[in-house]
Amino acid sequence: MQPVIRRLAETTINRIAAGEVIERPAAAVKELVENALDAGARRIEVLLAGGGIARIEIIDDGCGITRDDLALALERHATSKLADETLISIPTLGFRGEALPSIGAVARLTLISRPAGQDCAYRVHVAGGAVGEAVPAPGIAGTRAIVEDLFYATPARRKFLRTPRAEAEAAERAVWRLALAAPHVAFRLVSDERVMFDLPAQDELARVAALFGRETATALLPLEAEREGVTLRGLVGPASLSRATMGLQSFVVNGRPVIDPLLRLSLRLAYRDVVPAGRHAVAALRLTVPDEAVDVNVHPAKTELRFADANGVRSLVIGAIGRALARPVSLDSAPVAMPAQSFRTAPGASAYPGTRARGFAEAELALAAQPSARAFPPPPAAAGPAPHDHPLGAPLGQILDTYILAVAPDGALVLVDQHAAHERLTEERLRGEFLAGRIAAQPLLVPVVVDFSPGEAARLLSEAATLARLGLEIEAFGPGAILVRSLPAALKNPDAAGLLRDLAEEFAESEAPLALEARLDAALARLACHRSIRAGRRLQREEMDALLREMEATPRAATCSHGRPTFLRLTRAELEKMFGRRGF
Ligand code: ADP
Ligand code: MG
Repeated sequence: MQPVIRRLAETTINRIAAGEVIERPAAAVKELVENALDAGARRIEVLLAGGGIARIEIIDDGCGITRDDLALALERHATSKLADETLISIPTLGFRGEALPSIGAVARLTLISRPAGQDCAYRVHVAGGAVGEAVPAPGIAGTRAIVEDLFYATPARRKFLRTPRAEAEAAERAVWRLALAAPHVAFRLVSDERVMFDLPAQDELARVAALFGRETATALLPLEAEREGVTLRGLVGPASLSRATMGLQSFVVNGRPVIDPLLRLSLRLAYRDVVPAGRHAVAALRLTVPDEAVDVNVHPAKTELRFADANGVRSLVIGAIGRALARPVSLDSAPVAMPAQSFRTAPGASAYPGTRARGFAEAELALAAQPSARAFPPPPAAAGPAPHDHPLGAPLGQILDTYILAVAPDGALVLVDQHAAHERLTEERLRGEFLAGRIAAQPLLVPVVVDFSPGEAARLLSEAATLARLGLEIEAFGPGAILVRSLPAALKNPDAAGLLRDLAEEFAESEAPLALEARLDAALARLACHRSIRAGRRLQREEMDALLREMEATPRAATCSHGRPTFLRLTRAELEKMFGRRGF
């Protein structure tokens, strides 16, 4: 039979479009807050219930929508924002005229709006695409958008939503990004009656401090750079600051918060030699790009961009960060100002001074000038070859205060990454203690108070029971603060604040609800990492020997918990091949 082509009904079209624009509550929140910002609001309030699935309410004091325009605002491709039909200059966050009709197609949407000059507010309701009449309603100047029962009209989509908690977190992240992009606007976010943040209009620095945490923000380095009309401003973390997730990375391009792959990649490259594998840099970057050099109309959600000169943008970001990172190090060239470790490379060995030396060539360059490698004085007793039940061998010395050099009984050369190895051992030990029900809590004489954003604090507190099983007892201590009562006894002198912060990120990272076991696992790995010997610590021969022996006795000691190897072995055969003593 010949297929018949017919036009889709408006409701169907909107539902299809909604699939792209509004894929979860966070997307609806983002679109509505963007509308409020476009309306020139000075103050925006976001209220969420049930992760935004049950209800989203956004209140702004912007220009409002006139009675006559209310119905039009809900129509597809109707917008007040696109003056320039070439799509080159788009000063507003919205321009596609899709958000309101899309939300109206998949949820119950109520708009109540009053422009400053109009004598009363009008309300219009749309459910599953059916738009009602505009009727007078009480309301002050500005707009209130209420979204209820998201995806009730599209059950297929509703099935893909995560838990309300995960959806709330995603929505919170969306508002967090927009609040960073628009510091001059006051933002208040309430989720299930909990105030997540309540920020006055402020300057950029104060906004970053409020949303990154004051302690983190004070460590950040400012940067500023320009290249062919593109300017970059912002704050980036020093080499010593890294996080378990990309949660503290914000990119704003021409006032628009974006999650752009090119910018993310540039950041990662800029920190490649500085931030350990599996960790992430902290950055708040703001780019201003000439309108004709960037296309924002790449993705319906408008979070990705296309730069005309992608290479130029990448080198601008990498170069500016490289210079920012180099600055403080070049100031403290006196060795006393350096920590007692030998990360430094010989001059010119690395593109960025102050970054970690990598590989043998650099280590050798550094040898002459710095105490980067140490051999031990001969041991007191006569040192024979390592006994055969010690396959990792006898330690010979330490390189870069980070790697242990040992010789195995069969002559193989063994290199051990002391941090990775110790982390694994600690994790296995903690896991053993935990399985045996023996993790002891060490009460703190003076409880420690750690500050968080209210969202992070809530997240940690909701895991309090899990953490208590590991000997880490916490409780709420006013808005955003957490009181630490006890720590696992196995952790000697831990940094409670750093540990809790990493745990908060660990729990936030997994959006799907993790089984208790997985959460315990994640927490154990974090604890182990905090307790472990740092790379860059000088070890005594006895300590190295003990580490090697413990590795031999511990199952799964060959890789760290991130899957990286803890030691490398060069056998006699491999050495001979490398020196060309043996062919194939
Ligand atoms: P877009 O933002 O792409 O124009 P939307 O569907 O989000 O499309 O909104 C349609 C129109 O409704 C906007 O162009 C704007 O004129 C109006 N509008 C939406 N939200 C608000 C608001 N909070 N305040 C004032 N006007 C608004
Ligand atoms: Mg919009």
